[in-house]
Amino acid sequence: MFDLATQDITYLPGVGPHRADILNKELNIRSLHDLLYYFPYKYVDRSRIYNIKEVNGNMPYIQLKGYILSFETFGEGRQRRLVAHFSDNTGLVDLVWFQGIKYVTGKYKANQEYIVFGKPGIFNGRINIAHPDIDIPSNTTTAPPGLRPYYNTTEKMKRSSLNSHAIEKLECTLLGRITSLKETLPAYLLKEHHLIGLEEALRNIHFPKDANWLSKAQLRLKFEELFYLQLDILQYSKERQRKYNGFVFNRIGEAFNTFYQRNLPFPLTDAQKRVLKEIRKDVGSGKQMNRLLQGDVGSGKTLVALMSMLMAIDNGFQSCMMAPTEILANQHYQTLCDFLHGMHIRVELLTGSIKGKKRQEILAGLITGDVHILIGTHAIIEDTVAFSHLGLVIIDEQHRFGVAQRAKLWKKNATPPHILVMTATPIPRTLAMTLYGDLDVSVIDQLPPGRKPIETRHLFDNRRDALYNFIRKQIQEGRQVYIVYPLIQESEKIDIKNLEDGYMHICEAFPECQVCKVHGKMKPAEKDEEMQRFVQGEAQIMVSTTVIEVGVNVPNASVMVIENAERFGLSQLHQLRGRVGRGADQSYCILVTGYKLSEETRKRIEIMTKSNDGFEIAEADLKLRGPGDLEGTQQSGIAFHLKIADLAHDGQLLQYARQAAQKLIGLDPECTHEENRIVWEQLRKLRNENTNWSDIS
Ligand code: ADP
Ligand code: MG
Repeated sequence: MFDLATQDITYLPGVGPHRADILNKELNIRSLHDLLYYFPYKYVDRSRIYNIKEVNGNMPYIQLKGYILSFETFGEGRQRRLVAHFSDNTGLVDLVWFQGIKYVTGKYKANQEYIVFGKPGIFNGRINIAHPDIDIPSNTTTAPPGLRPYYNTTEKMKRSSLNSHAIEKLECTLLGRITSLKETLPAYLLKEHHLIGLEEALRNIHFPKDANWLSKAQLRLKFEELFYLQLDILQYSKERQRKYNGFVFNRIGEAFNTFYQRNLPFPLTDAQKRVLKEIRKDVGSGKQMNRLLQGDVGSGKTLVALMSMLMAIDNGFQSCMMAPTEILANQHYQTLCDFLHGMHIRVELLTGSIKGKKRQEILAGLITGDVHILIGTHAIIEDTVAFSHLGLVIIDEQHRFGVAQRAKLWKKNATPPHILVMTATPIPRTLAMTLYGDLDVSVIDQLPPGRKPIETRHLFDNRRDALYNFIRKQIQEGRQVYIVYPLIQESEKIDIKNLEDGYMHICEAFPECQVCKVHGKMKPAEKDEEMQRFVQGEAQIMVSTTVIEVGVNVPNASVMVIENAERFGLSQLHQLRGRVGRGADQSYCILVTGYKLSEETRKRIEIMTKSNDGFEIAEADLKLRGPGDLEGTQQSGIAFHLKIADLAHDGQLLQYARQAAQKLIGLDPECTHEENRIVWEQLRKLRNENTNWSDIS
């Protein structure tokens, strides 16, 4: 048995130094093991050859057998394309290439029999297949019959003729040389979960005997991946709990009680009460709390945060709350000061723009312990900020913070403070547990009473007149309106121009109104002043970029207009929409788009107009985009380690694998059982390979 992981890819027949270099640079494939675990992204059924007369432009990948009649080239330069007219005596199709024309004409000849694979389409009323894969019928011995694998390759690879077909040949060669592979799951687990062995799975993932074997192979490999992922997370959490104790907040005292009895302006919702109980149990347990609080926009997370901070105060600890933007930090500061009116609790705000004497005062107050609650932006994780006894850290809208930033906060004390991470971008529970390591999850699944659901409508931008009439009417009724323009970081200049144009346009269209304007490039003081004009009700319309996305609270605002809504993701649209519907009035969200929309955009808009439920939207988002795109996942990097499982679609298997991992840890807590030796060895190996991605938050 030889160790594939240490065998350099260069020495596999058909590779050599040049190709090894390309595989290395383009796909990060270095060893035979890497190659073996480079899986196809799709399969084509080779058991059937179609007649051209049966073919239409809506078919998936198909296989044809026939002759090239002639070649023809069209266009010039970048527009150039090569067409081969291909026939099987039942009909004609065009094979089309836009690149590698010289290679194709050099390799394939007219009047020779070929097998052609590809996805048919229609161009100028004729059926064509763009960039097909071509085989000579007698030369198909490279792969056994059955489903044919297709591998992703890059343009650079194709230029060195390392296309999918070439990878297929390499996999075939490699599998031919493997005589026995080390199993990575114990036999009893394979049996218990009805899984096939590793070697069989790997053979069938590259060259499935049939569809049934393919799903067996996929199941086995996905299970393994998710199982080790979950095992790692659970094990890590166990190890951490052994290592660290948490501060114990076992008193409910004056601060909490006074607030609850005297200052709280409305009853808590049942969901808020439940979450507070969960938090209280955590912070009283002697373990360090590490909790994710999910709650839709407007569900009242700030209040839960505040009451948790009061628990800390009653037990002699300081708290801090970190917000992603200065506007939001400011607003939290205001809200907390209002809530705590007359209670002798010192709350301070620390942001980048607070400097000089004021800053020194705050820093001093933190060290003496006079400051009970610190609110701020990421300025509060700077090294100059030191606390006397920090017991609780709250991170609002956490997806805006990188892993490293969170870790920094974590390390401010010898004993780590309790951590509460709050987000309005809900994600399914199992996924949350996976993405955020071992965070426990609480959910506020209820809005405060009396909120009317927001009405969402889609409008094409040629109906602006109707839109403006609507806005005018709302303003006449005393309401306020947000108009948001998209912001793409790479071209901030253009976006600001969009915004400026939009602003001018709105000022002209609404001469009777006060219009304010906010964007990310403004000086904080200026931004704040403009915000205040809207908050105080002086301005009726606010034109802005997405800087108002999170947290801003102006209950009198009842209309949210989102321009170029096609340029926003679902969770962002939902966040923006959450800025309205905060008061007693009926609120509206209007999504303005151009006329031409992609299928995906159409779906996104449709979900928005149909649903107000953040969880439903998050679920749909996950399905539409896959988890790699979800905010937060890029930071955790987890999606990149999964080669075959897909968190968006394998949620059930993930849950199943988690249970299996839990069971194993329960039965073998000291990792000593002989039958699990394979498991612990494999986990150690995987942990060494990967950077420690479970070390988040
Ligand atoms: P989010 O969860 O989006 O951060 P906020 O904490 O900003 O929501 O709360 C939104 C609004 O709801 C605030 O004006 C807040 O005062 C109000 N609110 C919070 N809890 C309740 C409650 N139990 N009853 C009525 N209003 C509430
Ligand atoms: Mg909030």
